[in-house]
Amino acid sequence: MVRHSSRINLSQSALKTNFNFIRKKVGKNVIISSVVKANAYGHGIHEFVPMAEKCGINHFSVASSFEAEEVLEVCSKDTRIMIMGILYKEDIPWAIEHGIEFYVFNYERLESVIEAVKDLNKKAIVHLEVETGANRTGLNAEDFSNALKFLKDNQEFIQFEGLCTHLGGAETLANKFKIDTQIERYKAFLEECKAMDYMPHLRHIASSAAALAFEETRFDMVRVGVAQYGFWPSPDIRYLHLQQTNKTTENGLRRIITWKTDVMDLRTVKAGEFVGYGTAFQAVQDIRIAVLPLGYSNGYPRALSNRGQVLIKGKKAPIVGLINMNLFMVNISHIPDVKIGDEVVLVGRQKNNVINVSSFTDTTQLLNNEMLSRLPAAIPRKAVP
Ligand SMILES: *Cc1c(COP(=O)(O)O)cnc(C)c1O
Repeated sequence: MVRHSSRINLSQSALKTNFNFIRKKVGKNVIISSVVKANAYGHGIHEFVPMAEKCGINHFSVASSFEAEEVLEVCSKDTRIMIMGILYKEDIPWAIEHGIEFYVFNYERLESVIEAVKDLNKKAIVHLEVETGANRTGLNAEDFSNALKFLKDNQEFIQFEGLCTHLGGAETLANKFKIDTQIERYKAFLEECKAMDYMPHLRHIASSAAALAFEETRFDMVRVGVAQYGFWPSPDIRYLHLQQTNKTTENGLRRIITWKTDVMDLRTVKAGEFVGYGTAFQAVQDIRIAVLPLGYSNGYPRALSNRGQVLIKGKKAPIVGLINMNLFMVNISHIPDVKIGDEVVLVGRQKNNVINVSSFTDTTQLLNNEMLSRLPAAIPRKAVP
């Protein structure tokens, strides 16, 4: 196989640190469902899932049946997979056959499920998602009553595995009033289950921010995405943690991704000349630049044109000019002895310097999640100790 223009390493020890940290926060009785939608936030489902299993994780959440299939390709036999989003009617029998759990957020889906399940020798495992204030997906009160009754009447065919909702914006402390309302509404749905004498096995509403910050949202399971990859969901949640633990600097989470490429070419640019397209960058003195073999089509944000930095020989090299589709240039005038083929760190550590994903996002206003999830699936990923 020929070499790709960049590569990603994933640190097993950093991942272990993150799960230990999350475990300590949520306690030992709460299931941690590892959210691996969007190709494991760009880390790569195929590489990430076995790494998480090594840390004792055996429950994974995805957004679609397509992603569920990718997890299924690499996970252990007893690992559980939960689809939180799109599952087409024609894929429902496939999900049931493979024991894949899925959300039900409208009543019609239950009718499709019962149709499918009767041809199969297996129960469907469903999570009822309820509307509590995020207004994206979820059953409203009336549909929920009908759905609950339907589940109770059809328990030989359908397992009532979970009752869940999604909190819209627990990352921001200013949203706490909204989150509190959502929690109250969720509890009312639970009361209804109690009144019907038909309870779900698992209650779950928290993603990373709520799981780390608000004990009352943890219930039986938390769905953790961004934090397991080593990123704080927001500065609010990080500072709340520091305040709660009376610490000033502890991070607790470690980025697991390192993204690297190599120097493709080198040249000197004379004072007064422009670099790359247009007039975005003009050399005010003679400079030495390195050409790197990737660009916005490879997931490197174009918004970093003239502002981002990379690491070469452990030193920061600023980007000069525009990020092209497959190339960009960096100024290496201050870094001696750079050679073609030298390693370049785009995200991660090299010697005593580090480029964080947030150093991308602070300048570009991209969310960590957005930048990571856009890393093309074609970039080779590798687990490292
Ligand atoms: C993405 C997602 C999560 C995980 O969110 P993080 O903030 O990354 O932890 C949890 N639940 C649902 C329904 C999601 O869509």
